[in-house]
Amino acid sequence: MTTDNAPGPAAPGFNDLNLSSEMLAVLQELGYSQPTPIQSKSIPLLLAGRDVVGQAQTGSGKTVAFSLPILEKIRIEGRQLQAMILCPTRELCTQVAREVRKLGRRLPGLQVMILSGGQPARSQLSALEKGVHIVVGTPGRVLDHLKRGSLNARRLRCIVLDEADRMLDMGFEEDMEQIFAALPKVRQTVFFSATYPQTIAAMSKARQTEPVRITVSKDAQAAAAPEVKQELYEVPAGRKWQALQSLLNREVVSSAIVFCNQKVTTAEIAQNLQDAGVSADALHGDLLQPERDRVLAKFRNQSIRVLVATDVAARGIDVADLDLVCNFDLPVKPETYVHRIGRTGRAGKKGHAVSLVNPNENHKIEAIEALIGRTIDRVKLANKEPSRPAAPAQASMVTLYISGGRKAKMRPGDILGALTGESGGLSGSTIGKIEIHDYFSYVAVDKKVAEQAINSLRLGSIKGRKFGVELVR
Ligand code: AMP
Repeated sequence: MTTDNAPGPAAPGFNDLNLSSEMLAVLQELGYSQPTPIQSKSIPLLLAGRDVVGQAQTGSGKTVAFSLPILEKIRIEGRQLQAMILCPTRELCTQVAREVRKLGRRLPGLQVMILSGGQPARSQLSALEKGVHIVVGTPGRVLDHLKRGSLNARRLRCIVLDEADRMLDMGFEEDMEQIFAALPKVRQTVFFSATYPQTIAAMSKARQTEPVRITVSKDAQAAAAPEVKQELYEVPAGRKWQALQSLLNREVVSSAIVFCNQKVTTAEIAQNLQDAGVSADALHGDLLQPERDRVLAKFRNQSIRVLVATDVAARGIDVADLDLVCNFDLPVKPETYVHRIGRTGRAGKKGHAVSLVNPNENHKIEAIEALIGRTIDRVKLANKEPSRPAAPAQASMVTLYISGGRKAKMRPGDILGALTGESGGLSGSTIGKIEIHDYFSYVAVDKKVAEQAINSLRLGSIKGRKFGVELVR
């Protein structure tokens, strides 16, 4: 394998990367003025058709890095599957597909399809019959379709494994092997992975041809992604809960994730936080899909400020910029630490990651510090307690459920119009994020006007029709 970690020419622009003028125009429209380090290194290789292993975190711009070359090579005429992007979770699929569609806006007729759980298999089948150019999917669902013959990969030219390390961690290896076996032998095979464990090295050896490994030096990555302030709060055994509470009281937090290693802890901590007046909810693997969707929608639209989650449940969730990541429990594997804190400090903001540690957890810290190549600042908290509940992280928004969605041709403007129009009477500044799902929609509104919003939606109409409206708790 070749390793490309040379510093490269001084800050190349997108113009230096051999991209088409349409694509350059799209990048400009999206406000992407300068390629990130992973983009300037991988795009030329991918355009040249090379197999690549890109080692990059979330937030590095990796999605654009692998999507641009795919889009440059898509042939729109003939609706045949030409590229496939595998992701570990449904949420990540949604996020990646969104980015691909955004970048592909100047390719009229481009069909990008998500194949993951949580979407009715029947509607997937009819869309597949019409033909798609790019599939973004989870290994399980993609394999199902390959097996039943509803997905035809004979013309596929490129496969990307996004977050390949996580897919292996999640036990998708067998599915991925079966998928590889169903693909044409001559193809481009691309892995993106935050870490480079032995398992990835082995899969690269088995499935790629003369791959180039791309790593981005810590300096380059730091320059691209602003530094995350990492701190360790040393707390006596049994005092983590108090430490968390005082942390959340001290920091002005509009979105934070608290990571726990066990489901029961997430539920317990979320309940404790709610009791203490902090707007929080738990996200763990035992939630049914609709409950999970509800919690995530509330978190995205800021009706919940603190999400208490396990790693598995938090995988791939699509929340752009977190103010704070707190490790209530240190993760078992040091790599997980890197994944967790990569969720803060994105989109040009300063990140903050705090780990609560008991005195007997030093070995875990040493392993993490060895992996990230630096020491983490220790902060003694014991003296600062007990804290006053000065300003508990209350949410200013609440979420309303509306019983109509995409299938009822609902669009965000319809809901906004009903709330701010003559009958609604609300000012636009009191309305938050609007999410349209297939059969229902969520809209965030300022708590202070929640009652007025519910009443006016119930009494009035949206698009001339009556819909059910409920406050989401
Ligand atoms: P990712 O690492 O793929 O999760 O991307 C992180 C975020 O950076 C996404 O919100 C992208 O839209 C954004 N992004 C990607 N490339 C660029 C760029 N060259 N300039 C500015 N923002 C970018």
